[in-house]
Amino acid sequence: MDKDRIEAVLKETRSFEPPEAFRLRARVKSEEEYEAEYRRSIEDPEGYWGEIAGELEWFEPWQKVLEWNPPHAKWFTGGKTNVSYNALDRHLATWRRNKAAIVWEGEPGDTRTLTYHELHREVSRFANVLRRLGVKKGDRVTLYMPMIPEAAVAMLACARIGAVHSVVFGGFSASALAERIKDAGSEVLITADGGWRRGQVVPLKEAADEAVRETGIVKHVVVVRRTGQEVPMEPGRDHWYHELVEGVEGEAPPEPMDSEDPLFILYTSGSTGKPKGVLHTTGGYMTYTFHTARTVFDLKDDDTYWCTADVGWITGHSYIVYGPLLNGATVVMYEGAPNHPEPDRFWEIVDKHGVTVLYTAPTAIRAFMRWGEQWPMKHRLDSLRLLGTVGEPINPEAWLWYYRVIGKERCPIVDTWWQTETGGIMITTLPGAHRMKPGFAGKPFFGIAPEIVDGEGNPIREPDQGGYLVITKPWPSMLRTVWGDPERFVNQYWSQYPGKYFTGDGARRDAEGYYLILGRVDDVINISGHRLGTMEVESALVSHPAVAEAAVVARPDPIKGEAIVAFVTPVGDVEPSEALAEELKAHVVKVIGAIARPAEIRFAAALPKTRSGKIMRRLLRQIAAGQEEISGDISTLEDRSVVEQLKKGK
Ligand code: ATP
Ligand code: MG
Repeated sequence: MDKDRIEAVLKETRSFEPPEAFRLRARVKSEEEYEAEYRRSIEDPEGYWGEIAGELEWFEPWQKVLEWNPPHAKWFTGGKTNVSYNALDRHLATWRRNKAAIVWEGEPGDTRTLTYHELHREVSRFANVLRRLGVKKGDRVTLYMPMIPEAAVAMLACARIGAVHSVVFGGFSASALAERIKDAGSEVLITADGGWRRGQVVPLKEAADEAVRETGIVKHVVVVRRTGQEVPMEPGRDHWYHELVEGVEGEAPPEPMDSEDPLFILYTSGSTGKPKGVLHTTGGYMTYTFHTARTVFDLKDDDTYWCTADVGWITGHSYIVYGPLLNGATVVMYEGAPNHPEPDRFWEIVDKHGVTVLYTAPTAIRAFMRWGEQWPMKHRLDSLRLLGTVGEPINPEAWLWYYRVIGKERCPIVDTWWQTETGGIMITTLPGAHRMKPGFAGKPFFGIAPEIVDGEGNPIREPDQGGYLVITKPWPSMLRTVWGDPERFVNQYWSQYPGKYFTGDGARRDAEGYYLILGRVDDVINISGHRLGTMEVESALVSHPAVAEAAVVARPDPIKGEAIVAFVTPVGDVEPSEALAEELKAHVVKVIGAIARPAEIRFAAALPKTRSGKIMRRLLRQIAAGQEEISGDISTLEDRSVVEQLKKGK
């Protein structure tokens, strides 16, 4: 059905070859190498993933690589292993024992480095502490922490003893935390007195206390001393981390985990609705993050890798903690804001620690563009060799800025599409193998079988046709269920197109097999029977020099069905005006065509975003429709005052 397709109209034709110097040293060096390995991974997934998993250590071998009873997959059934053992102990017998595992920098500028040997000791001590507090295999432990090494230590300690961690982003409110503690049924909470953000203390313990009171189920609260202010400690319930670990033995036998035993629960960002408690298990998640981390980020032993996400997001789980440490990489971890004390903090960190691989988000890149080139220009940035992005579609303008100003046209960019539910990167270019096309995420990773379907689930085979992105084969790190809500797991992901995983995103594929993500299916706009993805209209707006950021939504329209309302944040010194609004409408028509002409442009100082930096178009939709009261879950909204300002702006 044609009407169920999403139009794909943006004509972005620029493309970039991987730099020769990069290609020569890369893990995957050519399109042909990629194709051959991809073919093998699809034709013989069990052979392929068995081989990769076999590079890691298993206490007992698996009997079967894959059992697939749609929508339920089991990987490496019968196999016994432990993720913490593979991320730490496995390296201790090698020269990596004294290699830096975590290079941490606090916002005030304090630093700490933990070698693999030291990290192993800290994790083992804390694992012993958790055991003494009565935590057993299968128990859920909630983490509510700043970006300090103890966050990674606590995750790995849980993994070591078979406890299921649920990390809640430290920027969330007490009630958001309480809701997640209750949903997971956690009796143990690990937090800190506070964390640093823009020179201020984020009072984590205060929020934690409030949440604990609200839940009534938490028996132990472990508190890391980070910011040092006075915090109330309830005797019997609250324990200082440093007191608990003192004198505790630095060896803790890892719990042998069944491959399908739960590893963690993580709640999604809530861009489209109420967050879902996504459950990941042991063997498949370990194997997939291990393989994607080294392949997509081309990790070598001399790399210094920095992912700027928070451990509270899936990106932090898979590509700060598990993936890189499974590979024995050196990981940079930073506590604070990108613009503290000045908008060049990231670039200062890159130079100071000699970062070679940098992984960040489009929302950050667009903020850096707004702050101006003068900030990165103050730094050398010559250690960088590879850049990455994740979280939202990256507009070609932002891609080109990242490529030119940060990467100096020397560093390939990987635009990695994936989700909390997928556990690891699904669609990307491989940096030494593929030509890059700004705006396109790229090709499927090994073993991943994406498809674009129409409203009835029929595959759309012709190129450049927008539709719904689904995945047709199971992969090792796919979510196993929604915690406590197996029906939602089936309804949300597997009922639209039986047997296929529904991503919730729209996409199109070009003649060379590159995927472009068009945005959320929920956000698709329907104008006179044409269904438009949000990404292309927004990219057209962002390509105008006066625009820093844009979000488009639909408003009901008596004639066209829907009309486009564009919320636009101008660049620093540009004054909004009626003339500029007209100019922007004309610009969109020029770039895409008359069909995409916004009916209305609204200028806004800021857009509503989730705490992970994604634009929440569902709120903008309500504002555009003139709704007085905003409905739906807004617990993950970053700044509530933005919504009030947007409503007043009209
Ligand atoms: P919820 O599912 O609760 O609405 P969410 O989808 O924002 O929240 P995440 O799992 O953090 O939660 O985000 C995954 C989504 O982020 C993807 O479905 C996609 O829409 C978007 N995304 C991530 N990376 C990319 C990328 N490289 N290009 C385009 N979109 C991306
Ligand atoms: Mg989602």
